[in-house]
Amino acid sequence: MNNGFNSSAIIETLQNVLSNNRDFIALHEPCFKGNEWNYVKECLDSGWVSSSGQYVDRLEKHLGEFTGASYALAVVNGTAALHICLQIAGVSAGDEVLIPALTFVATANAVSYCGAIPHFIDSEEKTLGVDPDKLDRYLNEIAEVKSGVCINKMTGRPIKALVPIHTFGHPADMEPLTELSKRYRLELIEDAAESLGSYYKEQHTGNIGKAAILSFNGNKIITTGGGGAILTNDKSTFVLARHLAAQAKLPHIWSFHHDMVAYNYRMPNINAALGCAQIEQLPGFIKKKRALALRYQEAFARIKGVKIFQEADFARSNYWLNVLLLDEKHTDQRDSLLDLSNKQGIMTRPAWTLMHKLPMYQSCPHMDLNQAESLERRIINLPSSVFL
Ligand SMILES: *Cc1c(COP(=O)(O)O)cnc(C)c1O
Repeated sequence: MNNGFNSSAIIETLQNVLSNNRDFIALHEPCFKGNEWNYVKECLDSGWVSSSGQYVDRLEKHLGEFTGASYALAVVNGTAALHICLQIAGVSAGDEVLIPALTFVATANAVSYCGAIPHFIDSEEKTLGVDPDKLDRYLNEIAEVKSGVCINKMTGRPIKALVPIHTFGHPADMEPLTELSKRYRLELIEDAAESLGSYYKEQHTGNIGKAAILSFNGNKIITTGGGGAILTNDKSTFVLARHLAAQAKLPHIWSFHHDMVAYNYRMPNINAALGCAQIEQLPGFIKKKRALALRYQEAFARIKGVKIFQEADFARSNYWLNVLLLDEKHTDQRDSLLDLSNKQGIMTRPAWTLMHKLPMYQSCPHMDLNQAESLERRIINLPSSVFL
């Protein structure tokens, strides 16, 4: 009937990999086994809970050291970080920004906060990120550079930036994307919200474009409750980002003077305290996540009709969220698999609804998205917490 596809074998394999005596296994749970209590208590005891304090400085220093980025700025969340990066990249009202259709809605929303229009592009199966060859052919067809500005010939609007994301932690193919962004004069901003601890050709993700963002939301590889960061190797980008995130207040002992419309986006010290404790454990978290991914890969190697997504040969991934990929001919089984596993107490979830299908983004420009559409039908995210 279902041509060899065996849902119960898939559920059984999941149960074997996750052999665990809990009633319910979430997709991703945080792990607080380090200095979290000590550091947060110290914030409360000292009264330094708000948007300055030693933990903010310490977290930023750790992030720079861990990722190799020259500058790191801790902010309230990853979406705010994207908003600031796009603004600094010169994205303003009426511009277009290229982003994958296969992403979390925050990427598109940040573009909208600038008054700009997201322009959705296709992904590739090798990385689950932007397909550079297909984007190259597309831009060749629809875009031209006029006096140093990339113009969409179809809409007449400037295309200002390209925001690839490292989907579920897996690095996108950044080298050809960098080349394309130079050729078409696009600012390159990496959405590295999911890829702290992932490397592209030996380089930590987030070091390749003009700036990058991280997220420390509760479900990410490390968490500050809510939080995010901007990474950059460009000093003027960092200085402007810090200014914009702190209401553009000019430094002075007693005067309150501001020179731009800006935001209250700095990370509070109490969140940074949590982050400091979490980043101390990050190398251990990555080891555990890579080990779990390997167990999934080995266990599912024997199962027909599905495979576990594996990093590209140029990538070393944090395997933030594991992906079970159904063969195209079995996608009609996806929803029953999701039902079955969730009923068994194993949380699984499909990929995000593609951006161009959401009501507020339906009328935005997009290229042919057949790979993203296929991935949307085929992706099932699997439990990936570090304790598993
Ligand atoms: C989590 C996430 C964000 C946003 O981060 P928040 O901290 O939740 O605002 C942006 N992009 C991607 C791809 C994400 O996964």
